[in-house]
Amino acid sequence: MKLITNSIKGTVDVLPAESYKWQFVEDIMRKQAQSYGFKEIRTPVFEHTELFNRSVGDTTDVVQKEMYTFETKGGESVTLRPEGTAGAARAVLEHGVYNDGYPIKAYYLTSCYRYEKPQKGRQREFHQFGMEVYGAPSYFADAEVICAAHSIFERLGVRNISLEINSIGCPTCRAKYHNALKEYFAKYKTELCDTCLSRLDRNPMRILDCKEQKCSEIAANAPTVLDYICDDCREHFEGVKKCLDAEGIKYTVNPKIVRGLDYYTRTVFEFVSNDIGAQGTVCGGGRYDGLIEELGGQHTPSLGFGMGIERLLILMKNQGIEIPKPPVCDLYVIGMDEDSKIRAFQIAEEVRKSSLISECDIVGRTFKAQMKYANKINAKFIIVIGSNEMAENKAKIKNMQTGKETEIPLDENFFNAFLSVYIDNTNSDLMAQLDSMKG
Ligand code: ATP
Ligand code: MG
Repeated sequence: MKLITNSIKGTVDVLPAESYKWQFVEDIMRKQAQSYGFKEIRTPVFEHTELFNRSVGDTTDVVQKEMYTFETKGGESVTLRPEGTAGAARAVLEHGVYNDGYPIKAYYLTSCYRYEKPQKGRQREFHQFGMEVYGAPSYFADAEVICAAHSIFERLGVRNISLEINSIGCPTCRAKYHNALKEYFAKYKTELCDTCLSRLDRNPMRILDCKEQKCSEIAANAPTVLDYICDDCREHFEGVKKCLDAEGIKYTVNPKIVRGLDYYTRTVFEFVSNDIGAQGTVCGGGRYDGLIEELGGQHTPSLGFGMGIERLLILMKNQGIEIPKPPVCDLYVIGMDEDSKIRAFQIAEEVRKSSLISECDIVGRTFKAQMKYANKINAKFIIVIGSNEMAENKAKIKNMQTGKETEIPLDENFFNAFLSVYIDNTNSDLMAQLDSMKG
């Protein structure tokens, strides 16, 4: 087969047979976010470039080399969102969402775009689940979003994932720390990689995060941020730890965690696993008290995290976590000829009205081929309609697992008759499900 083109490098298709895994994970994310009182926010896939230049920080890898930036026909510079925080913050400000009072709690499930070298767990289009809180200076907010991320891993049955936390202080105490770092790294100027050399002046903290072996060896003995943070920042950090302790959530304080984006202040955290491969960070986040001001708003202490869905799915796969299979066809309706196919079509339509899954032939299969197909898709029940059934207005319905057949009417009582056979024959909690649907 010769296609005119293939997908773009670094992008991945999620095919119908696989999408239930995404839906399962997304569903749990939505439910957990809801249980913490968060509501969904959806923002455009592209924004004016300056939004990201200002928010993500112009010393970050993202802004320096990873953004998909292009000029529109109108001559504007726009960028595909590399992360979810900036767009959400822009929208909250633009629409005065803060007029409804603080805190504002929003979550998103969104695609992100970064021009990176594709490898396992690193794509050019990837997806993030994120939670954001605006207007919450208390350390309880930090603890709440960490707990929320933690609860998602718990719900999904993910094991061996460690929470690492750190405080990188506020702009005041960080200035002192930057100086200490500059002094320290200056001694190793000849040994640092080129990227770190360029970081030395503008953002020396990022050197701590470098993946080059030589740089991380040097960084191992660098001054520790926790020795430099001011009393307020220290108190805040102690508060976060107190809450996590109270909840019994295990963590390690890792002073090397600085996060890749420049907007962070005070608390930063990562959930890391060794079961993924090289890209071990599944979730990263922290406090960004200065971001809203940076975007032109009032001082608004805020925080959040982003969780990589692809990495999470790789982790779940590597840990052998079973994701429940999507529901199968409850009733496959077979029509023997043209007339009975119309009746089959109507019956399928009727069954669907009650949220059960029903299918009938849409590809022109013979009777035998329809039987085969019903088997192939694991239909729970089948019903065969031919000229006799049409004439007598009744048909046999067959439980495909037990082989048991029951006769039911093909008139207005059909659906109730089917339902009673269905409930008799399946050990499902369908009754409860139907009850809750009726609400
Ligand atoms: P990394 O150090 O792996 O490059 P990052 O610091 O750039 O990560 P963030 O910007 O904090 O990552 O994004 C949050 C999460 O999004 C990451 O922890 C990861 O799970 C996911 N993520 C980031 N970049 C990619 C990518 N290119 N492909 C897939 N997932 C990604
Ligand atoms: Mg990155």
